[in-house]
Amino acid sequence: MKLTSVVVSSTVVLASALSVSAHVGRGFAVPEPNAILQARSGHANGRRSRMMARANPSTDAQMAKVEDESQQCKPYGLSNSAELSKAYPKASQIADIVVGDDEGGRLFEELLSSNTIPNIQPKQGVENHMGISDQASNSYNMDQDPDCWWTATGCTKPKSKKFEEDITSCPEPRTWGLTFDDGPNCSHNAFYDYLQQNKLKATLFYIGTNVIDWPLQAQRGLTDGHDICVHTWSHHYMTTLTNAQVFSELYYTMRIIKDVTGVTPRCWRPPFGDVDNRVRAIASFLGLRTIIWDNDTDDWNVKPDGSETTQQIDQNYQNIIKQGNNGTTNDHGVIVLTHELTNSTMGEFIRQYPAIKKAYDHVVPLTACFNATSPYAEDKPTYPTFSDFVGGNIDAQGLPDANSMTVNVKSKMDIQSQKNQTSAGGFSPKSIKQAANGGSSSSGSSNSSSSSAAASSSNSGNGSSGSSDNSASNSQNKGTDGQNGAFSKASVSIASFAASAALSFLLYL
Ligand SMILES: [Zn+2]
Repeated sequence: MKLTSVVVSSTVVLASALSVSAHVGRGFAVPEPNAILQARSGHANGRRSRMMARANPSTDAQMAKVEDESQQCKPYGLSNSAELSKAYPKASQIADIVVGDDEGGRLFEELLSSNTIPNIQPKQGVENHMGISDQASNSYNMDQDPDCWWTATGCTKPKSKKFEEDITSCPEPRTWGLTFDDGPNCSHNAFYDYLQQNKLKATLFYIGTNVIDWPLQAQRGLTDGHDICVHTWSHHYMTTLTNAQVFSELYYTMRIIKDVTGVTPRCWRPPFGDVDNRVRAIASFLGLRTIIWDNDTDDWNVKPDGSETTQQIDQNYQNIIKQGNNGTTNDHGVIVLTHELTNSTMGEFIRQYPAIKKAYDHVVPLTACFNATSPYAEDKPTYPTFSDFVGGNIDAQGLPDANSMTVNVKSKMDIQSQKNQTSAGGFSPKSIKQAANGGSSSSGSSNSSSSSAAASSSNSGNGSSGSSDNSASNSQNKGTDGQNGAFSKASVSIASFAASAALSFLLYL
């Protein structure tokens, strides 16, 4: 697969168009639509794509073979798409509990009565919650950092043991923890082909609205053997949202991933890294471990969609790459923030991978970093341990068949709070500790028989996974998911959200 076959998708065009009004703070150049259109029309897909254009893909396997990006990104519906869309928040809005969703409503009531949400007011947001207000920044006590607010201080380890610390780095030395945010990108086939050809598996942080828009592309993420985590429904600053909105942003993304792929994730990454103890508590109740990063490529901000030159992004990559063999990672490896957001971000990784491979002993998904062999609520699929993975056994076992996966509406999820996930093989602090102590890594989900998400308010369960302290973990943290600490003004993103909103608008007309 040629690199040039990763081309600008219609997602990017729409995102760029919509980003103009959403833009505040750090600047980026809005690309000339003509330049994008030229890039698209300049793409030669060859005979095979023209043949595929006649087909109407209706399975993961069929869609995975489509090379023409305009066909990949042509809005489509499956047989129950209309029913599915009624069960979810509108793609163009911040999620809230859907009217008539008794189960979601009941679970939210259970969360409220669990008394696990700390009394922290939502931070004041700006620009439709796409940034943090100056007032909220200026009035926050950064010295004491009472909320362990990442956006302010880079805090990832709450002082109170009631909250699990965030995962920030890969414990394995000289190892690159491979993560891609903001997918599924409708035009990711060439990129996923590249990962496949290079025997790479990644941890994919999927946005709910993208999953409902591109279910077949989301299925490919799983059936290719990557592991999937939550990246919220609409990609906003989570600390600015109400409790019900935070709950809904996470809950409905978990459920659409379950409806579309059959698995219930137990990990999530906050957009822009924006998390505090209130948001952590709600995520923990839903069984989700918070995962940040310790190195940021800033790839999302590359021209033409962003404001940095390719050379600057190259340099960001180089700064991380050199840590592979200069001794910096001899103690533990890194978790790197990269995106499948656009042609540029996917292409940039492809260009950098040979150097990454040379500098680091291993490039692995987070399941391997943490021996998270059973990362979902379901017993299957299972993933290789670190030693299995680096020994060449990189494939997940028990994956669904890409030819016959179905999409179900309102799947029942087995939600267990982080504190109730105790057996080895997951992302919870107790699971990771168990795995490190040699606990069985082939066990299924939690030992707990509780099917409820009711979280204990006990103080037990703080992480001991050996990740970093609560200092800002890396000076390079900035970007679409990594606004540098200390409030570098309100955010901007070309927002997959905007793209999804536009595409959903088309889809649901
Ligand atoms: Zn993101």
